Amino acid sequence: MWNVPAGHPQGAGDVRSWRALTHEIERCELCPLHRTRTHAVVYRGGLAPRVVFVGEAPGDVEDRTGLPFQGRSGRRLDTAIGRLGLGSEEFGVLNLIKCRPPENRYDPRAARACRPYLDRQLAWLRPRVRVTLGAHALRALDPEAPPVLQAAGSPRGTRDGPLFPMIHPAAALRSRRLADRWERDVDALGAWLRAGAGQSV
Ligand code: SF4
Repeated sequence: MWNVPAGHPQGAGDVRSWRALTHEIERCELCPLHRTRTHAVVYRGGLAPRVVFVGEAPGDVEDRTGLPFQGRSGRRLDTAIGRLGLGSEEFGVLNLIKCRPPENRYDPRAARACRPYLDRQLAWLRPRVRVTLGAHALRALDPEAPPVLQAAGSPRGTRDGPLFPMIHPAAALRSRRLADRWERDVDALGAWLRAGAGQSV
């Protein structure tokens, strides 16, 4: 299931530690969300990604499939990834919170309980670039950032490396204005990646 390209810093042998982390999350009972989940939603993508997209929490389709960013907002994200020209091993997708919050309401206590998993996943994957999707992911990875509508579309330097904030793809489904904003920010991300993202922030 997991293919680690030759030369990856983690080494093919260490894929066992990724599997162990995945299983740990799938069995986690650290917060009450485990009682109502169908699946913990851990990750999809390659194990040596250039770019990792960080969302907020799974919704209904994700809870049923066990995969992040399915349904309409997932299709919008995948269309953007296609436009960026990222191959299947070159990107990854995950969430701050691994289990679906009831009524899809953001749950700060679950976010705090779940945060170490995100940090461990990012430390293992070591992406060159992290792309936050929505306000909560931005606040979690860059507490100093301005509000998401102000920050989205421009790269930022952080202690943990380069970060590119975007609005959440679900927001882009809500209005023409936000859909246009999403498209512009995808283009800006593409230009930044082509220019050697991370060297200029
Ligand atoms: S949301 Fe995170 S901390 Fe809570 S049960 Fe799921 S995996 Fe564990």
